[in-house]
Amino acid sequence: MTTSRTQGFSTKCIHAGEPLDANGGIHPPLYNHSTFGFRSTKDVLDVVEGRAQGNLYTRYGLNPTIRSVEEKIAALEGGELAWVFSSGMAAESATFLAYCKAGDHIVCIGDVYGGTFELLGKNLPAVGITTTFLLGSELDRLPDVITPKTRVVFFETPTNPNMEVLDIERIAKVTRTKGALTVVDNTFATPMNQSPLQLGADLVIHSTTKYMGGHSDLTGGAVIGKKELLGPIWGWRKNLGQMMAPDVAFLLARSLRTLAVRVRAHNVTGQFIAERLAKHPRVKRANYPGLPNFAGHEIAKRQMSGFGGMVSFVLDGDAAATAAVVDRLRLFTIAPSLGGVESLVTQPITTTHHDVSKEDRARRGIDDGMVRLSCGLEDAEDLWADLEAALG
Ligand SMILES: *Cc1c(COP(=O)(O)O)cnc(C)c1O
Repeated sequence: MTTSRTQGFSTKCIHAGEPLDANGGIHPPLYNHSTFGFRSTKDVLDVVEGRAQGNLYTRYGLNPTIRSVEEKIAALEGGELAWVFSSGMAAESATFLAYCKAGDHIVCIGDVYGGTFELLGKNLPAVGITTTFLLGSELDRLPDVITPKTRVVFFETPTNPNMEVLDIERIAKVTRTKGALTVVDNTFATPMNQSPLQLGADLVIHSTTKYMGGHSDLTGGAVIGKKELLGPIWGWRKNLGQMMAPDVAFLLARSLRTLAVRVRAHNVTGQFIAERLAKHPRVKRANYPGLPNFAGHEIAKRQMSGFGGMVSFVLDGDAAATAAVVDRLRLFTIAPSLGGVESLVTQPITTTHHDVSKEDRARRGIDDGMVRLSCGLEDAEDLWADLEAALG
């Protein structure tokens, strides 16, 4: 599709990566095939030796269904190229392994997903790759903790579960002068609300399991960036066998066509629920980038165009009293994931931060009374009625 002006986000959601198929199918068909055939040895060599772009073998990503969704994701993040993976963790591990070898170093800023914390803190040290964890409040120390061995500076924004907002432009600037790569996990924000590549990040990572999939029925990941930066990741994805399955790619493409309308609705409901919670007498603190008195609000206004559906809050009670509130909820289901059409709730100390020590939780501001909500697409008034009843 060629137009003289830049297409809007909603248009890209629907049309990017989706030419009419050979039979006039309105969307690309699903190619579940593991392998693809050739008419001649010359044809197969053209693909194997990179002279022609063709289909070859699905684990390599040389499959039309995979390529179609990758083209869409690249367009949505404003990147040259996107690669999909079997999960968000697969995307992360391939990226770290592609850029770090034994003796190299990573800096991780702020709260990160539990699996990421484990990968950086336990698995990668086993192969000689170490990580320094910096709190978001310690950002001034970033230039000092980056060493000549630092290859990657990694962070999420907003973070889980504090919803802390980290300044992408500022971090990317420091990281670039030190010769390392800025890698941003954009899962919470979505490409609709935040474009890290435009703010100076080198690579963007997604767990497409969350908002991009949006219906809690698929697991996948993606890495987006310049061609030359994705290059080194290719062999790791291929040989660690981390390819997204074609039927998952097909389902993900279907989900992405409604990403704009879904995220717009998540943004409205997130704001509504956060404002109500902030005014409730039993709530000590509500964490949401869209609240004017929230610590990260000014940065969020600069780097986000919407504030999303994730809200956390701290109750005036202990762990048991908080669990009682969570257990009284009817529309919010107790589950550790996020980003789907249905609303979910979790008490971080029982799930995502269960294995974090008491001291580390205190250092990171993760209270016993903390509750994390993923606001879904139900009527916002119904969600608030559920919360109010549970709090009362
Ligand atoms: C869920 C999640 C991941 C991991 O993704 P999987 O698809 O479960 O592997 C990484 N980062 C963030 C922010 C997440 O929420």
